[in-house]
Amino acid sequence: MPVHRRFRDRIRIGPVEVATYHDGRGRDRHTAACTAPGCGFSSDYADRSAAELAARTHRCRA
Ligand SMILES: [Zn+2]
Repeated sequence: MPVHRRFRDRIRIGPVEVATYHDGRGRDRHTAACTAPGCGFSSDYADRSAAELAARTHRCRA
């Protein structure tokens, strides 16, 4: 994971955090990342709604 991302609009849906960040090339990107130890789910999306949907439907294996 890059360390210099500046996340904003962070929310938590279950164990998954959704955040928006600027990709440095003029676009916003949206990340859904599970915070459960041992899960490791993390994914980027072009749409905030897609990231939130992924967070809601994430089935945690941890
Ligand atoms: Zn998970």
